[in-house]
Amino acid sequence: MHHLTPTLRALADAMSDVSEHAYCAGWLVDTEYEVWRLLHEEGGRWGQAGPDTLAPLLDAVRAARRRTNFWIVGDEAVGAEQAITYEAWRPMYEKWAQRRQDQDLSRLVAWIRDATEAADRIAHAACWDAQPDVWTARPAQASYERYTIVDHLGDGVVAVTPENADQDGVGQHIALHDPHAVLRRVAADRRMLDDLLTEHHTVSDDPFYTCPAATEEREGETNPSSRDGGACDCGRDARVYRRVQLLAEGYGWSPPGAEETSCPTN
Ligand SMILES: [Zn+2]
Repeated sequence: MHHLTPTLRALADAMSDVSEHAYCAGWLVDTEYEVWRLLHEEGGRWGQAGPDTLAPLLDAVRAARRRTNFWIVGDEAVGAEQAITYEAWRPMYEKWAQRRQDQDLSRLVAWIRDATEAADRIAHAACWDAQPDVWTARPAQASYERYTIVDHLGDGVVAVTPENADQDGVGQHIALHDPHAVLRRVAADRRMLDDLLTEHHTVSDDPFYTCPAATEEREGETNPSSRDGGACDCGRDARVYRRVQLLAEGYGWSPPGAEETSCPTN
């Protein structure tokens, strides 16, 4: 059993407080990683704790950190926290962050595939013969006519009768978002997603310039680096994640926000 000095105990307690507010647990699994992430992330959230709740808790962790050169990790084997040097901690954190980002990316990709699938299905359901997917806005030509959206045969699909908006504004908007446009965008976005996911890590003849995340299987080239298997440091993963996120936002995805709640009182 490893006993912590009072200084380290104070750091462990400050970290534990964060876990307590996020999950009502003294030391939730991965607390050391999540707290480190929150220390380095603007407006981060964890569990039920949002930025407002976290700010004073993280200040307390920062204050405790200034008095020591160690970080605390939970040790499940002996059921107690252990102090480790930052030198030992940084690669551990990088691997965890990489794994976390990979999982986030997989979830995001699955979300986009579902969203494009739904948009595709709905657009197809709005088509009723080989080529009815191009819609045109047709303003009323005479006083007895109505503003309509018509298909390629000139058959009406939508009568535009907005109560409190400009007919032409609404009509042009509907025509711009006809099934043809939706199917075109869905197809392009799917190709964009595939393109993004096949982007390579930096591989160079000089091991120093080769990304540690580049592997023979994934890159189709031999990785001459002795740093194999580490976290991506060439920027590829962050870039891909950011772009996939933007793609998802176009379909209405927004970053999950935690409800600010408090722990049940016993
Ligand atoms: Zn990389």
